[in-house]
Amino acid sequence: MSPRPYSGARVAYGTMHGKEATARAPFQHRLGAQVVAADGIDTDRFGTFTGTVPRLLAPADAAAAKAALAMEITGQPFALASEATYLADFGPFADHHELLLFQDGVRGMTVVESAMTRVASPFSDVGSVPEGLAAAARLGAPDAAVTISTLADGAAVHRGGLRDRAAIADVLEELLSLGTGARIQRDRRAFADPDRRAVLADLADRMADRLTRPCPACDAPGWGVVDVERGLPCAVCGSPTRGIRADVLGCGRCGERASRPRGALRMSADRCDVCNP
Ligand SMILES: [Zn+2]
Ligand SMILES: [Zn+2]
Repeated sequence: MSPRPYSGARVAYGTMHGKEATARAPFQHRLGAQVVAADGIDTDRFGTFTGTVPRLLAPADAAAAKAALAMEITGQPFALASEATYLADFGPFADHHELLLFQDGVRGMTVVESAMTRVASPFSDVGSVPEGLAAAARLGAPDAAVTISTLADGAAVHRGGLRDRAAIADVLEELLSLGTGARIQRDRRAFADPDRRAVLADLADRMADRLTRPCPACDAPGWGVVDVERGLPCAVCGSPTRGIRADVLGCGRCGERASRPRGALRMSADRCDVCNP
């Protein structure tokens, strides 16, 4: 593989929310490639965070569909696309899973990088303006934007991109007068959410770095982690546990795989099904 297989290439980012800005610098510096926006792309048709368009595809399939559309719109053979999922559990936090996919139409391959971070819980249901203002502050306003929605006569009413206190108070007043309560959530579109942009920038950097690494079998770019192996031995009895003992490295083109142990670690016995069933 040449040391910079994408030197001079143009890579289309399938986004309508300005995500291309998060990938430009690493793709330029590490690969000599130019990241461009796919102007006119409508990624909302694959689903929105607010539920105004339901999400029907699995995250990796949605990202692949956005990348394919970006290639079609721009005529470029290379594309990036991302997809986020927020899984709320009980309490004030949620897991943000972000996936960045790179599609190489020349080599016929796909490379995926992903990240998991803990974030403030994605929504609060509120019944008054003061309650809504407190929730907005908790969700990160005014540094981050929020969305507010309600149901009025069975139809969803929705306002997004809200940051400052006065604007949030106005919209709360309006929506609370229409329906029974309002749902306030972080606006997760990349241009409105600095935390999400930071995750996307980190993923773009990891992706660009990965694309400098060739597959040991077929020399295609993008050699990196594709899976993990569980079965880390228990520190007391040595039985295999759910703990991760190795990363699986793989190629996006030829299917080559290699295991890379994470070191001589042991799992604590309180997480062992034999010692602590
Ligand atoms: Zn390969
Ligand atoms: Zn054990």
